Amino acid sequence: MVFPPAPLDTVNWNQLGLSIQDNVNGHVESTYSVSTGEWSEPKFVADPYLRVHGLAPALNYGQQAYEGMKAHRGPDGNILLFRPTAHADRLAVSASYVSIPEIPQEHFLKCAKLAVARNAEWVAPHSTEALMYIRPLVFGSSGHLSLTAPTEYTFAVYVQPGTTYHGVQPLPACVVEDFDRAAPRGTGGAKVGGNYAPVIRHTDKARAQGFHVTLHLDAQTRTCVEEFSTSGFIGIKKVGESVIVVVPDSKNIVQSITSDSCLALAESFGWKVEKREIPWSECKFFDEVIAVGTAASLLPIRLLARASTGEKFVYGETTGECTLRLGAAMRNIMRGKIGDQFGWVDTVQEKDLLQEDASAQLVEAEIVSGVNGELNGAPQINGSQVEDAPIVNGNEVEAPAAVETPAEAEVKAAAPHVNGSVEEVLAAPAAVEAPIEIEDKVSVPHVNGNGVEASLVDDAPAMVEVKA
Ligand SMILES: *Cc1c(COP(=O)(O)O)cnc(C)c1O
Repeated sequence: MVFPPAPLDTVNWNQLGLSIQDNVNGHVESTYSVSTGEWSEPKFVADPYLRVHGLAPALNYGQQAYEGMKAHRGPDGNILLFRPTAHADRLAVSASYVSIPEIPQEHFLKCAKLAVARNAEWVAPHSTEALMYIRPLVFGSSGHLSLTAPTEYTFAVYVQPGTTYHGVQPLPACVVEDFDRAAPRGTGGAKVGGNYAPVIRHTDKARAQGFHVTLHLDAQTRTCVEEFSTSGFIGIKKVGESVIVVVPDSKNIVQSITSDSCLALAESFGWKVEKREIPWSECKFFDEVIAVGTAASLLPIRLLARASTGEKFVYGETTGECTLRLGAAMRNIMRGKIGDQFGWVDTVQEKDLLQEDASAQLVEAEIVSGVNGELNGAPQINGSQVEDAPIVNGNEVEAPAAVETPAEAEVKAAAPHVNGSVEEVLAAPAAVEAPIEIEDKVSVPHVNGNGVEASLVDDAPAMVEVKA
């Protein structure tokens, strides 16, 4: 059997929307025990649920870190991961912030590739706008009440198909005024859950006021740009024929792999690259501003508004030419359309299934699709349908791949449809509706003074418009 299998032909890849697809084949789990000091061999689990002690530090103390990365099909049908080692390294950094043992890069890659390989038919055709979003997460998982290190940690890798919104219209963004995402010397540099939940009510409020993207300034002085709530900040200046790409240098922001990739591409174009403090006041001089991240890709920013000062810097209704060029290059490398001079793309292979007989997977997939819609009885999701992945050491296979029994498949197919949290991260571009309507509400009250929390929809007339 040739790997990878073709994409499912029953999925409308361009219309996936943002809801969680619980009918993917499953996820990967590996545990770390303090007593052994090692991560266990990965297991492929044929449902979306985890069995976790309710007193786990992950649930009670936020001892958790995560990643977001992507896979695409190349023109030849192969599955391409984008910069997985960079994601592995960043997860190690995030984990260290919350006292979680490091996941060695090799183990991260083995688990992530296993998750993708066993869900290979969920990686969209090259010709579509869809992608596979990969969500590795790690957390303290044993029951443990004291604020000390627990005895067990779990690393899991989930995958979800999604549709990108290529060529979205530029979006309005505003500065978050009454909340700091990250303190100096705090945890802002880590992709840990605790940095995100507190932001939700502020992004919800901003969205209700017509701003689909929110920008955080440095907490200490409120004078420098840090990052957007779920993506990095890039400012672009054009001076004659030359282009300068500027990104913030701060310890309190997540080091964006998309941003890093854009900088490398910019240098390859002969553009100038600067990583340094960006005073908020410099934003009025940018010609283009982009919000960059794995989920959002390159999201052009139409304007930046700040309620407390009444400032509004406008970059335009159409995507800038530099943003377009960076976006096209990123996209072409990720999708294997042009040569990858940077060594960013890693191809998922048959051996990543960690089993000898890849055809067993296809049998399993067929059984699953066969029972869809023919369910009866309550599913018993108790962790028992964990499928032990046989481990391939060199050529030595310990066990043949188990073919899923119809009973197991039934449990999987019956899993409730959970509308979940991946949504927000994947959502930014999709939420865009009628940007022009938004414009009316963007009137920023002209307030001289200190931290006025006036609503952005107040009808105060004065508005500082600075043409970029
Ligand atoms: C994930 C994330 C980013 C983007 O990182 P990428 O590696 O580009 O996906 C930027 N900022 C925050 C706060 C993030 O969580």
